[in-house]
Amino acid sequence: MSYEVVLGFETHIELATNSKMFCGCPADHFGKPPNSQTCPVCLGLPGALPVPNATAIEWCIKLGLALDCRVSLSSKFDRKNYFYPDLPKGYQISQYDEPFCHSGHLDLSSGKRIGITRVHMEEDTGKLQHSEIAGRRSTLIDFNRSGVPLVEIVTEPDFRSTDEATEFLKEIQQIVRTLQISTADMEKGSMRLEANISIRPKGQVELPKYKVEIKNVNSFRFIKKAVEFEIIRQTQLLEAGQAPAQETRGFNEETGETFSQRSKEAAHDYRYFPEPDIPPLTFTSEQIESWRAALPLLPKAMRQDLEKNHGLSSNNAHILSSNIELYNLYTQTVKLDPSNSKLIADYLINKRPGTDQTTSPGQLLAQIKDQRQNIESDPDKIHSSAQKVLAANPQAVADFTAGKTQALFFLIGQVKRDLGQVDTQLTKSIIEKLID
Ligand code: ZN
Ligand code: MN
Repeated sequence: MSYEVVLGFETHIELATNSKMFCGCPADHFGKPPNSQTCPVCLGLPGALPVPNATAIEWCIKLGLALDCRVSLSSKFDRKNYFYPDLPKGYQISQYDEPFCHSGHLDLSSGKRIGITRVHMEEDTGKLQHSEIAGRRSTLIDFNRSGVPLVEIVTEPDFRSTDEATEFLKEIQQIVRTLQISTADMEKGSMRLEANISIRPKGQVELPKYKVEIKNVNSFRFIKKAVEFEIIRQTQLLEAGQAPAQETRGFNEETGETFSQRSKEAAHDYRYFPEPDIPPLTFTSEQIESWRAALPLLPKAMRQDLEKNHGLSSNNAHILSSNIELYNLYTQTVKLDPSNSKLIADYLINKRPGTDQTTSPGQLLAQIKDQRQNIESDPDKIHSSAQKVLAANPQAVADFTAGKTQALFFLIGQVKRDLGQVDTQLTKSIIEKLID
């Protein structure tokens, strides 16, 4: 029997707002002295009252709009109850049955549509730090991250391969960066991935009766490895007639294996109930539409523009749409010199100036012109240099004649040693003609 993977994702994005989700403490916690950015609200002290961050809510909804979600005009926060030392209140303020955004989608380059179940707003937890103090193994708690705005994007279990998943997750990262609502930096934990994986016989329509969740993986490469490991592990269990357990598993980066952490909670274990300290929120459709109108050009639209209007390859379009400053620099430069759109793209991709944001389109054109002038493209000069090179390297000429194309690059390299930067195409064709 052949099997297929049923894969979905929960992605957490830490928003780069000035202040935290429900208090005025700074949200930028990375590398700050432990517990230097806390207050009674984010420490979860009794009686402290949360006040929602309007910018965080606006950004969460904008991300939902960018993912073609429907936005609820009325919404609320809920308490998700669980015990863990990094969660001093004993509950996380999150959203349960009325998320800000739901029923969206994102299309992959193959045209396949991935369903977005929901995009909701919640708060981050504190961070445990395991260390040794005075010879004793100790765990310290840093609450700087506690209460940082966190958006959770939940997909439908629509992925059937890790390649689809990687494309999707990278696209999410790019959209978040284009919206400029988070660095989405995985190493710093600003973007964190959880995968839901199960296996079913190919051809079966209904979802498997179990799923395995892999928590908090911090790189695209590791999530791919973790999922691939799970596909093999679960398939082997099914082939042996066993049912994989519904559980949460961690990923060991050193061994490349997943390991059981705990049996997975069901939603009712969290005893969700409406957050009594924050009134329900309502929006007008005018407000939502004005946010939609304020969305920047998204990566997909940038790529379409680069491919259709500027004639670039899909690969080059991907690179130039990878950040909005680079895209803007490219399109503005092309406006000044439309006939050289491909040349400008090549220059930006191969020789990208270190100072993207500060280089003006005019400066960029001047750099390109400079570079062109330094390239030797006089056929007579190249011709006489190539003649010398061929005479001095009979073995390479023989190799090339015998079909070793590699020898041609060696000969071009020798002409470059003689003349410096040369027009490679021209040099290639001159050498070929001479050998003929
Ligand atoms: Zn605080
Ligand atoms: Mn969450």
